[in-house]
Amino acid sequence: MSWPAADLDRAPAPPWRYALGVNITVVGAGVIGLTTALALEQRGHTVRIVASSTGAQTTSDVAGAVWFPYRAGPPDKVAVWAGRTRSWLERLAADPTTGIDVLTGYEITSDEGMDPPRPWWAAAIDVSRAPAPVTGAPLAWKFAAPRVEPARFLPWLTTQLRATIELRTVTDLAAEPGDLVINCSGLGARELVPDELISPLLGQIVLTAPGGVDLAITVTDHRDADEIFYVIPRRDELVLGGVSRPWPPGAAPARDPEVSRRILAQAAALGIPVGGVLRERTGLRPYRLEVRLEREGRVIHNYGHGGAGFTLCHGCAEDVVALVET
Ligand SMILES: Cc1cc2nc3c(=O)[nH]c(=O)nc-3n(C[C@H](O)[C@H](O)[C@H](O)COP(=O)(O)OP(=O)(O)OC[C@H]3O[C@@H](n4cnc5c(N)ncnc54)[C@H](O)[C@@H]3O)c2cc1C
Repeated sequence: MSWPAADLDRAPAPPWRYALGVNITVVGAGVIGLTTALALEQRGHTVRIVASSTGAQTTSDVAGAVWFPYRAGPPDKVAVWAGRTRSWLERLAADPTTGIDVLTGYEITSDEGMDPPRPWWAAAIDVSRAPAPVTGAPLAWKFAAPRVEPARFLPWLTTQLRATIELRTVTDLAAEPGDLVINCSGLGARELVPDELISPLLGQIVLTAPGGVDLAITVTDHRDADEIFYVIPRRDELVLGGVSRPWPPGAAPARDPEVSRRILAQAAALGIPVGGVLRERTGLRPYRLEVRLEREGRVIHNYGHGGAGFTLCHGCAEDVVALVET
């Protein structure tokens, strides 16, 4: 399908145009591209998706993926996007085929008392102080934590879309057909835009059998920024992390056995009875000091969600819709 590329920069489109729907190309089929495409279709727009990779080949497939604003900015916008995404994920969790479940999250803190200042990410959500459900850490912030299983959720998103995915690498955003092009290329934006402000942050996870772990509880320990730890239960396995390490742009992610050893040692030190190791995975978070969500001529950028793509996806998609319709 191809559409004439209207010059939307020269004159604002009349309001009736949006009632009829805009023809839009979305570049990228990770969680950001698929969520954005869905939000646009739900508003009556006509979407095509172009992506160089899908499913297990994307960074999105590697993610934990629990609701938690990590390595994404700016804080004021992230808090709003995260809050809106959270409500959306909670609604979707009612349908088990989405792969979303609402767990109880514990964020271990170094604050000793029962009444420290609320964390910035909790400004708009219900959090309370509670004993940490691990050994060697007295207190935590306790909150409802929507958890997504990417291997279920990404395919579910594609089943909700009328758009199909064309497998192709885009080299020139301006050459893509449609009235508007939405750039959801994640780390690919570094070359495609080009944008040197986005850079890779290596992540590594260890997947284990459930062992004796309560699958309804996720625990995060960011007290040591160099040795972050989390356990995120899925329905039939555990995701253990993690690490966040600047990585050379263009280089493929490489597994570090020492990181996996350290993660498993942290689980043992916290008294978390994980099962046997199933596999290890690495991925590159598309990190930018600030998520880029803005219009530039015919292109609307939506990339740079760092360690929080699942946490921010729907809130950002709503802002893309607003940019399309203004
Ligand atoms: C180990 C790890 C754990 C994580 N845990 C969490 C978590 O618990 N919670 C959370 O919210 N987030 C988590 N994240 C972060 C999350 O995975 C990312 O923020 C998210 O996947 C980014 O989504 P994206 O769609 O922008 O990028 P991607 O998933 O990388 O998708 C980018 C898409 O763009 C396409 N593309 C790129 N360049 C081009 C091009 N030139 N032409 C055509 N297509 C192109 C790609 O093929 C792909 O389809 C984690 C990440 C890692 C690595």
